[in-house]
Amino acid sequence: MPDSEMQQLWSTSHLSGGNASYVEELYELYLHDPNSVAAEWRSYFDKLPQISGVGSDISHSTIREHFLSLAKNPRRPQAVSGGQVSSERDKKQVGVLRLIHAYRLRGHQASNLDPLGLWEREPIADLTLAEYGLTDADLDTVFRTGDLQIGKEEATLREILEALKSTYCGTIGAEYIHIVDSTQRAWFQQRLESVRGKPQQSAETRRHLLERLTAAEGLEKYLGTKYPGTKRFGVEGGESLIPMLDEIIQRSGSYGVNEVVLGMAHRGRLNVLVNTLGKNPRDLFDEFEGKKIIDLGSGDVKYHQGFSSNVMTSGGEVHLALSFNPSHLEIVSPVVEGSVRARQDRRKDATGDKVVPISIHGDAAFAGQGVVMETFQMSQTRAYKTGGTIHIVVNNQVGFTTSRQEDARSTEYCTDIAKMIQAPIFHVNGDDPEAVLFVTQLAVDYRMQFKRDVVIDLVCYRRRGHNEADEPSGTQPRMYAVINKHPTTREIYAKRLIEGGVLTEAQVQEQIEEYRNALDNGDHVVKSLVKEPDTNTFVDWKPYLGHQWTARHDTRFDLKTLQELANRLTSLPDGLVVQRQVAKIIEDRVKMAAGGLALNWGFAETMAYATLLHEGHPVRITGQDVGRGTFSHRHAVLHNQKGDGAYIPLANLYEGQPRFDIYDSLLSEEAVLAFEYGYATTTPNALVIWEAQFGDFANGAQVVIDQFITSGEHKWGRLCGLTMLLPHGYEGQGPEHSSARLERFLQLCAEQNIQVAVPTTPAQIYHLLRRQVIRPLRKPLVVLTPKSLLRHKLAVSSLEDLAEGSFQTIIPEIDAIEPEKVDRVIMCSGKVYYDLLEKRRAEELNNVAIVRIEQLYPFPEEDLAEALAPYTNVKKVVWCQEEPMNQGAWYCSQHHMRRVIGQHSVSNLYLDYAGREASAAPAGGYPSVHAEEQAKLLQDALYA
Ligand code: AMP
Repeated sequence: MPDSEMQQLWSTSHLSGGNASYVEELYELYLHDPNSVAAEWRSYFDKLPQISGVGSDISHSTIREHFLSLAKNPRRPQAVSGGQVSSERDKKQVGVLRLIHAYRLRGHQASNLDPLGLWEREPIADLTLAEYGLTDADLDTVFRTGDLQIGKEEATLREILEALKSTYCGTIGAEYIHIVDSTQRAWFQQRLESVRGKPQQSAETRRHLLERLTAAEGLEKYLGTKYPGTKRFGVEGGESLIPMLDEIIQRSGSYGVNEVVLGMAHRGRLNVLVNTLGKNPRDLFDEFEGKKIIDLGSGDVKYHQGFSSNVMTSGGEVHLALSFNPSHLEIVSPVVEGSVRARQDRRKDATGDKVVPISIHGDAAFAGQGVVMETFQMSQTRAYKTGGTIHIVVNNQVGFTTSRQEDARSTEYCTDIAKMIQAPIFHVNGDDPEAVLFVTQLAVDYRMQFKRDVVIDLVCYRRRGHNEADEPSGTQPRMYAVINKHPTTREIYAKRLIEGGVLTEAQVQEQIEEYRNALDNGDHVVKSLVKEPDTNTFVDWKPYLGHQWTARHDTRFDLKTLQELANRLTSLPDGLVVQRQVAKIIEDRVKMAAGGLALNWGFAETMAYATLLHEGHPVRITGQDVGRGTFSHRHAVLHNQKGDGAYIPLANLYEGQPRFDIYDSLLSEEAVLAFEYGYATTTPNALVIWEAQFGDFANGAQVVIDQFITSGEHKWGRLCGLTMLLPHGYEGQGPEHSSARLERFLQLCAEQNIQVAVPTTPAQIYHLLRRQVIRPLRKPLVVLTPKSLLRHKLAVSSLEDLAEGSFQTIIPEIDAIEPEKVDRVIMCSGKVYYDLLEKRRAEELNNVAIVRIEQLYPFPEEDLAEALAPYTNVKKVVWCQEEPMNQGAWYCSQHHMRRVIGQHSVSNLYLDYAGREASAAPAGGYPSVHAEEQAKLLQDALYA
């Protein structure tokens, strides 16, 4: 723009008054609709190349900075009184367009969301005419509507205002202006404004809505009468959830979705089980009566139970799966995501068109729990995306007894966290089922079109206490005084339909009775339920049921094929230039494959994956830094040093091979491990691995370990073959990162729930990983993996060790020590073995045998007994560990060792301990102290 013209503009009263924000607003309007600003401004804005290059989405801050810099420019001409001023009419037009924007931005704050009418909201100046230089006298003036989607270019201010109020301040509070992508914003504007926030629903749809509400209310009433005072965490107050779910499923089906996976906490769960998934009410009643309906081990309460069924939709059969969940709120969401991703991978559904996740949350937990943020953060990453999740917050405005205001959160809405990923958020008054239906349709359509998360905040209330035995008025007197007088959603809607002539009183009554009769008869109450589901819609888990950990298996692999696979892995494509150290690793692997170099950990582990892929098993590995491996031993992802891109040899073994997925995870443990649990519990034929950067980080996911991994099978009958690789070992690096807290895992072991292994050779990790998939048993596997051992000269194996053999739960003495001369046997696990071995060799002790326990759980008592049997002159048996006495395997595994020793041919054997003193921290902070302690424990083990 020529300087003279610019100066001309800057000499106007708007700018000389320092009114940069006014210009900024004008600019925003111009962006929405260039014709909405005066021609003078349009041409000015048209000529802003010096700050363009940003496209039409130029940010406010950029424009603000620009204007501010102009304002600060000392060469700026002084105001000239009587200079050009926009006409009054232009100003008003601008005001109208700003008003439209304000309603889009803040209309939700003036919307009618609370069914109880208890919200005290401040009046919003931004939504007043006065704020924009407009008055009631302008109401009948015709203005341009800009990009307001009401089907006309001009309308009176009155009409514009009515449209805005109806769209943005009714029973829907729409938040989408925070979305940066203008296509998405325009999409919402079009959808919301074109129907003024209230599309007309057909009589049939309205009857159906009432029928679903009748079902929701009917079940709770029935259970309340039949089992008074029994906990059921009823949906009462949030009944609209049921028609909402119905719509999501049916509409998803019409898009061709094949599976919908749901996660939810206890509130309303029984209702969803019966009224959405079609669980037989009779089974639910049996549970209320305390009967064990399936033999699952310890079992779980009824409001944690999962369920699967198939329903018919206009697009065909849809498989529904409700995930089992613990009482820990929100943790099931990433589990659902993992399950969905597994199903999408199985269906080769890279876009998320075939499988849709629904996450149902409570308001307090959604605002309070950190895992919500972690799960949102995962939603568009390569490893974890699922094409968008439909989130529903059953917002009953209270968290147990904690009130929404003041205590439960610092954000305005419980859903504000979703803005971190720019998810659109629809708050909706739960007492307006038609509004609920509308936002549900929007949410599904948005998810299917944009493949991003969307949130529905179903603002409702909780008719009873936290559970049915709880009296809520003690803590929420005001709220419950209102609730006690408040008609149910069904009553309100039935009245509306009767008044609208859609149904008669008698027909409403008929709906109620029909539902009650169905329950009396113990009939299914989901009309669309498919009685004989298409079994192709889900995985057959039968081959994995009923196996012991001792199940026979064969992890050997043909040597020639193994070498051929290794050669393929090390033949890199032309143009790939790898970094020097990586090239050395690959060169070494070439030698290892040819038998010219002893095999190290990285090679053996890689070959476990390659051979499993060759045998038809997909492999998925995620975790922090898994591509390279925290200690650079893996290098499964090769980054091109010349140019972009990375090459993954294991994903390029041969045409048509099973999936090999390896992804560095976001820096989360809780949500990521939960995701992988969900993935593994849905994919029995794959090797699914989560690796911690350092083993001690696993406790960031302790909820997942306690609530799912170690107990899921016993509570819910859900098998899980997830493998956790946890680097562990005392290397003098301080209290962090030395310990994966082995003791914690061992303390959780019972009833063969998980496997805990501490392999010490490359061949051991190879056979262990292969065993995890080849053996039909599906149990979580916790592996304490090494750090320095990855490159230890003694921790090597041969090609034959991979081709032959199997995972050894116990590795007996390897040196040629005569058993009769042995008077001391040391048992140990992990890296300390090599320290003991080296010292014993150096000191030429031929009276000491060292036995490695490579699997600590299930404890291999028989194998240990066999390894100890030759030592008929033994006098002392020592357990040696690096960990302090209160940690490691000592307390949790000694009873197994004692039992074995007690049966030894030498009687009265005592089990000694050699290790660090009990300690609060896992390890000391000073290398010198570490070395001293390490030397002492080795000395104790060998001599004391
Ligand atoms: P879903 O697709 O999750 O509904 O699973 C379909 C069916 O497979 C379920 O009804 C279960 O019988 C079975 N199933 C799914 N996951 C598991 C699992 N992790 N362990 C055992 N059985 C499972």
